[in-house]
Amino acid sequence: MLVKPFAPSSLTKGLQALVTRLQPTHPQYQSLQQELKIKEAGDFGEQYVMKELQQIALLNDCYIFHNVILPSVIPMQIDILLIVPNAIILLEIKNIRGTVHFKSDPRQLIRTSESGEVHVFTHPEIQLEQYIQGMRHFLHTQHISIPIYGAVVFPFNNVNIHREDGRLPILMAKELPIFLHQHIEKNKETVTMTAIKNLILSHLRDKTPFPLCQYYQIDDSALRRGVYCENCAEFGMEKLKIGWHCQMCQHRCRDAHIQALKDYYMLIGETITNRECRDFLMIGSEHIAKRILQKLQLPRSGSNKYSSYKLSGL
Ligand SMILES: [Zn+2]
Repeated sequence: MLVKPFAPSSLTKGLQALVTRLQPTHPQYQSLQQELKIKEAGDFGEQYVMKELQQIALLNDCYIFHNVILPSVIPMQIDILLIVPNAIILLEIKNIRGTVHFKSDPRQLIRTSESGEVHVFTHPEIQLEQYIQGMRHFLHTQHISIPIYGAVVFPFNNVNIHREDGRLPILMAKELPIFLHQHIEKNKETVTMTAIKNLILSHLRDKTPFPLCQYYQIDDSALRRGVYCENCAEFGMEKLKIGWHCQMCQHRCRDAHIQALKDYYMLIGETITNRECRDFLMIGSEHIAKRILQKLQLPRSGSNKYSSYKLSGL
């Protein structure tokens, strides 16, 4: 039973906006583009495993969550969490291509890509152990005691895995039905399951690294301004009486400013003033900017020209 469906991570969406708006000549452009690719691949892998899990009949009466962040003294961001009759199962998804070596002393994950490029990642076991501990602590504060299992899952067969030794299982997605079969005891009462599901739902947190210019220490003057044309991928759509017009390709779009304001929120700041809006969307008129912001019915603080509008609800 799907409780919290797949959604792309907020960092992926923010990085997409950042890479689109950052000048390609910026010194951080290439590394951010690389980071975006890794994040997108990660999301794709998580989405795939979520789909696979939903097809496993054994999980019909279990609860499936994507991306779980809970308050705990030990930080945790669990890719996939399953509540089954006698246990909680945490899955850490790794969509990495090429050849990977799990080194055990010290624990590191080293990936060599097809082109020979070497990349070092945090060993997923370290993350998973931390999440299991965090989860145990969270449940302990709620006076619940239940076994917690974890596994690292590689979604696709595009990886050649070498492992020295390890404490937690590393699986391919296709092995999940067998793994779950070994960890799910049938015919157990499910009252605790529902209680744990409700507990997790009522404690879910959201974590965003916004604004990304601050997170990556990029001066926001390095960003391209204007409203983006989704048809020709250029900035600088012009405001019409109704909607926006692209002079490059003649495309028209009614709500193109919404993405631009979301970009502002993810990259620059949580609130925007009329002046900042005119500057970022490249609008000449104070009156038009005011109309755009008021029409979105955003929570507002301050009065007259010092008003600032809260963008987080977009
Ligand atoms: Zn265009």
